[in-house]
Formats: sequence, structure tokens, C-alpha cells
Amino acid sequence: MSTRRQDAGAVDGDRRPEWARSAVYVDGRWRETAGGRILEVENPATETMIGAAADAGAEDAEAAISAAGAAFPSWSAMPLPERLAVLERVRTGLERRRDLLLETIVAEIGAPVRVAREAHVDPGLAVLRAYLDAAESLAWEERVGNSLVLREGIGVAACITPWNYPFYQVLAKIGGALVAGATVVLKPAELTPLSAYLITDAIDEAGVPAGVFNLIPGPGRVVGEALAGHPAVDAISFTGSTLVGARVAALAAASIKRVSLELGGKSASVILPGTDLEPAVHASVEAAMLNSGQTCTAWTRLLVPRTDLEAATQLAAARAGALVVGDPTQPETDLGPVVSPAQRHTVTGFIERAVADGARIVTGGTERPAGLTRGHYVWPTVVTDVAPDAEIVQEEVFGPVLTIQPYDSIEEAVALANATPYGLAGAVWGPDQEAALAIARRLRTGQVDVNGGAFNPAAPFGGYGRSGNGRELGRWGIEEFLETKALQL
Ligand code: NAP
Repeated sequence: MSTRRQDAGAVDGDRRPEWARSAVYVDGRWRETAGGRILEVENPATETMIGAAADAGAEDAEAAISAAGAAFPSWSAMPLPERLAVLERVRTGLERRRDLLLETIVAEIGAPVRVAREAHVDPGLAVLRAYLDAAESLAWEERVGNSLVLREGIGVAACITPWNYPFYQVLAKIGGALVAGATVVLKPAELTPLSAYLITDAIDEAGVPAGVFNLIPGPGRVVGEALAGHPAVDAISFTGSTLVGARVAALAAASIKRVSLELGGKSASVILPGTDLEPAVHASVEAAMLNSGQTCTAWTRLLVPRTDLEAATQLAAARAGALVVGDPTQPETDLGPVVSPAQRHTVTGFIERAVADGARIVTGGTERPAGLTRGHYVWPTVVTDVAPDAEIVQEEVFGPVLTIQPYDSIEEAVALANATPYGLAGAVWGPDQEAALAIARRLRTGQVDVNGGAFNPAAPFGGYGRSGNGRELGRWGIEEFLETKALQL
């Protein structure tokens, strides 16, 4: 494949009626915000305003928390089959909206259509399906000696989500919470609120009882902080940066609420000696660049045996250079823009400082990709000659940037893989499954893909260290929103 760049000028920046919103959804109905303000939403590929959302404030958060509290007793007491039947209708409503959801993800985050389908919308639907399935086999009641142990909904759950996978992240939280019998107040990211409105449409249409689910888009420092610190919120589930996660946990501490944090990552892809290099390097580059590198689980550090360094670097540069960057509405596009000018500035700043630190750019860099006159585009960038303690190796860039480091022994490979404060994901590639599995067991991280193992929507997802605590997805994601009670008989 040759390097191609498409001009985002070709992108249709049309507004859709479904993207022109101004209301919050509280107590089962749409209402204007107390402050009457809206936030405009930009398409990062065209730099045009394509929609709007409510810009809610603390008063709206208060109303939503109160509605969720009032709805909790009956929702949590609803027999499980009935609760699941309601949520099954939500899932069907989302399936019906699949095309609109794809179009919305392409427009609000700039994900290419293929990525929107394969990494955003379909996995989001799959995690909801997996929650509904896991509910059937969860031990809601069990006998332990003379005790009857009960699992019941935790109460009001506040869910705060980031912009990078706006549809998937919301379902990863509210799916587990609603199945558990908790009631929800959702605050989506300011940059990407549109898909959360479509989820709310499906919830409204499915007849979810009033107050069980509430949507209040608004700024994190206002609405997010109001939720995190509110004494009537029983659990807070946050996905976002480590810095903000720490702030949320501190605010939540005063009322001893349960806090579940899904934070940043700096994951390694470890290629063991004797591995077939080309497929492992290609898969690692593609994972690093997925969603323009704005993926918490991105394998942003490639670790290779020193004897394979030159060959791996050439393969990585060729693969990254062949990725099609441009108009996300086109089926052949691999990378769209990053989400905002601020994000572009952050990413290019990391690259500049890495170069100043002595790193070598083998492909990509800080220039705008050729021919792209509009949109927040960044070249897929591969960097070598980096020290293990360099900023570009230690800090989450959240853009299409991959570093390559050599190692001289397996011990060193494991040590390098574990040598950041994060621990969210990773990969191990080996000449055989046993060798790769043995190293995967030694990585201090919540997920490891062994020889290209596929995403599993029913398996637990979450981080070690500064990547967070708690687990989402499958039965683990339901348990985050359950209390446990023992009745002695
Ligand atoms: P962010 O700035 O931390 O924001 C995340 C969410 O928190 C947004 O809804 C934001 O609202 C809100 N927020 C901001 N300040 C807040 C405050 N003081 N109190 C309460 N809430 C506040 O993160 P982001 O830039 O949206 O997302 C990127 C980060 O998310 C990356 O670090 C990435 O690794 C991480 N992430 C982790 C996972 C995972 O599962 N581990 C998954 C995806 C992303 P506003 O939109 O209004 O700022």
C-alpha cells in the first residue's frame, strides 16, 4: 500500500436533526437546563460545528441525582427477568440506530467508518449483550454455611466518560449499572456528547422507568465535580485521565462512595526471540495507531530483541507510512484526525520534546500530513533511540505515536514492559503459545493479548497501578455496582 492523504475538505459537515440538542434527560423526560446554555460540537475533520448539547450545571446534577435516588427502590426490586427485558429493548433500539450511531461517531470523534464500526459501535453493542448474558449466571443469592448471601444494586451510580470511545465507554458503564439494579446519572465528555443522546433516545423509547437513567452533559469541573462530591451518589464510575481520576477519588472520599477508575495507559507489545516478525510488528503498529492513537489500551511501546531492532524498525516505519490518513467518511481511511486542536498540540509537543531529548523519528513527525488543509490531523509517527526513562516512553501521548526499544534478555523485556506507572493492557508475541503465555503471566497489567488474541466483551477490563482500579465488562462490570449482604439463618 502506498502513502495516501485525503483532503478533509471533501467531508460533509452537515448537521443532522438528531445532533441538535439542548435538553438534559431527567426523571424520564427532556427538560431545558437550569442555565439555558448549550455547547456546540465540532467535527474534528472539517472543523465545522455539526451539533449541540446541553451545557448543564450543578442544579441539573442535583435534579438528576434526586430523580435517580427516587427511582432506585423500585428499579432494584424489579425481578431480574423484567429488568433484563427492559434492557433488552434498549439493546434492540440501539441495534436499530446502528447506522446513525456509526455516522455520529465518524462526525463527533473523527473515527474512520471502519474504525467506528469495528472499534466503537459493534463492541459497544457486544458489551451490552455480554452484560445481559452475564446477569443470567451471576450468583445473585448463594448459601455460605448458615448465611444467605445476597447481591443487590448499590444505589445511585454516577458515570463520567471520556471522549475517545464515546458510545462504547457509556455502555461499558451503564450496562453493568442498570443490570445490577443501580440507577444512573451519566455525564458524557463535552467534546463528544452526541452518541450519548442517541443512547438516551433508545432508553426513553424502551420504557425504562422514569429516573432510572438520567443524562446531564456539561463541563467536568462543574457537573463532574458535583457528582463526585455529592453525598447522595453511592458509586462513581470514572473513565478518563489519571490526573482527573485522582481528583474524582479525592472528592468522593468524603462520603465514602465506591469509586471505580479506568485511567490512562502506556502499554507494551513484547515480541519474543524467534517470533515471525512481520505480522507481530504490523499488528502492533495498527494497535498503536487505532483511533488515531486515542485508545487507552494502545500498545504504544514496541519491545523487540536487539538483533531484530533494525528489521522491526523498518517494518514498523513501512506499515505506519502506508496507513491512509484523511477523510474519516471514506471506507479506505485508516486514521482520521485527533479530537481537537488542543489534542493535536499535546501530541506534537510530545514528539518535539522527544526529538530534543535525542530520539529519532523514522516516519511521521509534527508537520500536518500533506494535502490535509483542514482537520486536526497528525502523521502516524514511529520513534526510536529512546531511553527507558524518556518522557515519550513513560507518559501517555494519546496520539498516533509508537516507540521502539530493544532488549538483550527476556528478563530485561519483562522489566521494560513493567517499567511505567501504568498497567492497563499489553501484548506478547512468541514463537509458540506456551512461551508467550509464560511472559504474559509476568506482565503487571490488566489485559494481555497473547499472539493476537481477540477482544472479549465478557472478560474483565481494568488497570493496575495508575491505570486505575475496579473492573468493567461481563460479570465483573455488574459487580462494580452491587452491594453484598449476608443474612444469618
Ligand atoms: P479527562 O480529561 O480526564 O476527562 C474524562 C471525563 O472527566 C470527561 O467527561 C470530563 O469532562 C470529566 N472531568 C474533567 N474534569 C473533571 C473534574 N474535575 N471532576 C470530574 N470530572 C471531570 O479525560 P479525556 O481527555 O476525556 O480522556 C482521555 C483519557 O481517558 C486518557 O488518559 C485515556 O487513557 C483515558 N481512558 C481510559 C480508559 C480506560 O478504560 N482505562 C478508556 C478510555 C480513555 P469534560 O469533557 O467536560 O472535560
